[in-house]
Amino acid sequence: VIMVAGSLNMDFAVHVKALPAPGETVTGSPYLVSPGGKGANQAVACARAGAAVKFVGCVGADAHGDTLQKALQADGIDTAHLRRVNAPTGAAFVTVAASGENAIVVSGGANHALDGSDLPELTGVTHLILQLESPLPAVCAFAQAAQDAGVHVTLNAAPAQALPDSLLHLVDLLVVNAGELAALGAAQTGLDLEGQLEALAGRGPRAIVVTLGEDGAACWSDGRVQRTAAFGVQAVDTTGAGDTFVGVLVASLPLMPLAAAVRRASAAAALSCTQPGAQLSMPFSPAIDRLAST
Ligand code: ADP
Repeated sequence: VIMVAGSLNMDFAVHVKALPAPGETVTGSPYLVSPGGKGANQAVACARAGAAVKFVGCVGADAHGDTLQKALQADGIDTAHLRRVNAPTGAAFVTVAASGENAIVVSGGANHALDGSDLPELTGVTHLILQLESPLPAVCAFAQAAQDAGVHVTLNAAPAQALPDSLLHLVDLLVVNAGELAALGAAQTGLDLEGQLEALAGRGPRAIVVTLGEDGAACWSDGRVQRTAAFGVQAVDTTGAGDTFVGVLVASLPLMPLAAAVRRASAAAALSCTQPGAQLSMPFSPAIDRLAST
């Protein structure tokens, strides 16, 4: 069983001609409401790739909380450890300009209530996935408990922020995009990507995967870096590509070597770019494996 602990948000997306300036009002397209949040997205990607998934997180006692819970359950995810708290369910307000540029406000709400005591028994759990839309003390406590129990820990260090080495030491697999890698201080070293990964690995994580958008991914493990090209697709919306990548990567780890898992995750992430939305666009294992085997 793969456990995902993290955030759930209701995403509200509206398209506008140009992003509003301060004090300005603009009219937009009909808005799209869709389930999101990095934790929930990664759990859905993981389940659609074929894994048994348990989710740990917090929502409010409101309609959006119900919707998000049902969205997880629709993908067969165990939500017994989804806690209802006295705060509004997390939400993300996304404005997309015709240029493709966006402006996003995330209201974490109930997600801020997650704490170390929310972590259930880890019996039967082999892998834990964490992200940074949850309070850092909870993330650290979960990572420590998982390490103590011999559970493999994946940290997707998103959204970008600096992290203490004490947390990085608890991580088996660190997954970041280029911006998140820079926020971890890797870019300041003036080294090339290989050197940056080497230096970061020295701070604790046993393996590191950096996603590079349409340039694919780079993977550091056992002292060497391996590049994986992105799959060529007609990308219409890259929202959720990173979350799809993380979920499918960890779902694949029990089944194949890391390099093959990166390839399968890349195929899934590419497919997710061909449809709008986060969870809405995530592929299922037959389509993933069809593309990954090309
Ligand atoms: P994030 O969405 O977190 O910024 P990236 O942009 O690095 O992450 O994308 C994550 C992964 O999604 C990439 O490693 C790649 O495999 C895939 N991906 C992203 N954009 C494209 C694209 N235009 N075409 C094909 N694959 C893509």
